[in-house]
Amino acid sequence: MLALAACSGGSGGGGGEGDGGLIGVAMPTKSSERWIQDGDAVKEQLEEQGFQVDLQYAEDDIPTQVSQIENMITKGAEALIVASIDGTTLSEVLQNAADADIPVIAYDRLIRDSENVDYYASFDNYIVGVQQATSLLAGLGLTDLEGAEAADAPEGPFNIELFAGSPDDNNATFFWNGAIDTLQPYIDEGTLVVKSGQTEFEQAATLRWDGEVAQSRMEDILVSTYSDGSTVDAVLSPYDGLSRGIISALTDAGYSVGDEWPIISGQDAELDSVKAIIAGEQYSTIFKDTRNLAAVAVDMATALLNGEEPEVNNTSDYDNGVKVVPSYLLESEIVVADNITEVLVDSGYWTEEEING
Ligand code: BGC
Repeated sequence: MLALAACSGGSGGGGGEGDGGLIGVAMPTKSSERWIQDGDAVKEQLEEQGFQVDLQYAEDDIPTQVSQIENMITKGAEALIVASIDGTTLSEVLQNAADADIPVIAYDRLIRDSENVDYYASFDNYIVGVQQATSLLAGLGLTDLEGAEAADAPEGPFNIELFAGSPDDNNATFFWNGAIDTLQPYIDEGTLVVKSGQTEFEQAATLRWDGEVAQSRMEDILVSTYSDGSTVDAVLSPYDGLSRGIISALTDAGYSVGDEWPIISGQDAELDSVKAIIAGEQYSTIFKDTRNLAAVAVDMATALLNGEEPEVNNTSDYDNGVKVVPSYLLESEIVVADNITEVLVDSGYWTEEEING
């Protein structure tokens, strides 16, 4: 079973099913820790399987990513594993890959508008959004972390502000939909109030997942909506890097931890944000084990190059505009202060020293 294989580092069990051929691995940026961990894990596991690896980062520049992939094709890559920057901009280069019979695995982010995407390895992105919103509800005392209504739930109303990810990243709408579907009943009954009135994805979106963009939007909202002495009680943030920008905006505006500090979500369990959770600045993050995701992608590449069919567990949810891409979706976990050790340290993702250092 793939999930088990994923945990033990590949279906080949270290047997080296690779043929010594080259695999191209295109990652979006090194500016976020998670992609460095993804790249390292994919490279290491492919090498264990006996492949050579061309791992490239594009610093969130689309033409750079296109030319990196072009280069991989020219170098004779046998398969491509691609975490796209903008999921809609790779159609031409992927046609070149298809013309050269090179299979393509979309890594974490779906590649859109191309029939030349063979498989998709990711997490259940809608559930990630549900988990982000559920953690906010739990932080406010309305539910537990499983989403069950709290017996002594406060009445509110609570002011909440909403942030979304990059509009060109297919995942961003999945996270948003999962979160909004979870929050909407509370908004409808008046327990949660989006005081800025900015409830549309387009208003909440943060191009390229840029923390500074989130920081300045939060600053604008604080000035335009909360200058009357009211306070923000919760912030839906879909990524740790955005949460850090939001935290800076709040601190600059005079909010302090322990004193009406809002409940803030996140994603990726980045080290600085795990520390922020311990410090009480961020309430939650979503842990997506990049080692397991790497193992799924490596299993897919290995199977394809051995003429086998990769294992998938979802063939309905990820329509890229041209076709439904067969997918393997992993599970994610909510992390709050109480389970950092259990989820992040015991799994070996971070060491106690890294977290407390
Ligand atoms: C990933 C998230 C990440 C975000 C920003 C998304 O596509 O799924 O894990 O937080 O990009 O890098």
